[in-house]
Amino acid sequence: SRHFSDEVEKARNAQFSPESVTIFERIIKKEIPADIIFEDDLCLAFRDVNPQAPTHFLVIPKRKIAMLEKCEASDKQLLGHLLFTAAELAKKNLRKGYRVVINNGVEGSQSVYHLHIHVLGGRQMTWPPG
Ligand code: 5GP
Repeated sequence: SRHFSDEVEKARNAQFSPESVTIFERIIKKEIPADIIFEDDLCLAFRDVNPQAPTHFLVIPKRKIAMLEKCEASDKQLLGHLLFTAAELAKKNLRKGYRVVINNGVEGSQSVYHLHIHVLGGRQMTWPPG
């Protein structure tokens, strides 16, 4: 059988279930600590606990959207706000460029079912991604 990295294995074992509370909801409620770099009424940005680049943070909506494929027309403004916030935060430190990623579903290697935008930088990123 194929060998997958730990992260991919975690994603393959993660289950999407609409009712389950994710770790990110607990971070939003400050029930568990995170290195928060930005917060407003609509979103929260914090450093990834397992960084894949010298700078690696996540931007998430406070209102839960489980995954990108679950977004609705009424989420358009929120989605724009998340992406705009990612760009604003990257502008401060990642002047030489950066990567923005959304993993969606099992084959997208999503492991936490609360929408999040990854921002990675501080090294040369490669293409194609794994
Ligand atoms: P996904 O694979 O779902 O796109 O990414 C989930 C990300 O969340 C992973 O990069 C993982 O390291 C990160 N993550 C998972 N649990 C926690 C946590 O409790 N705190 C923080 N800061 N990041 C987390």
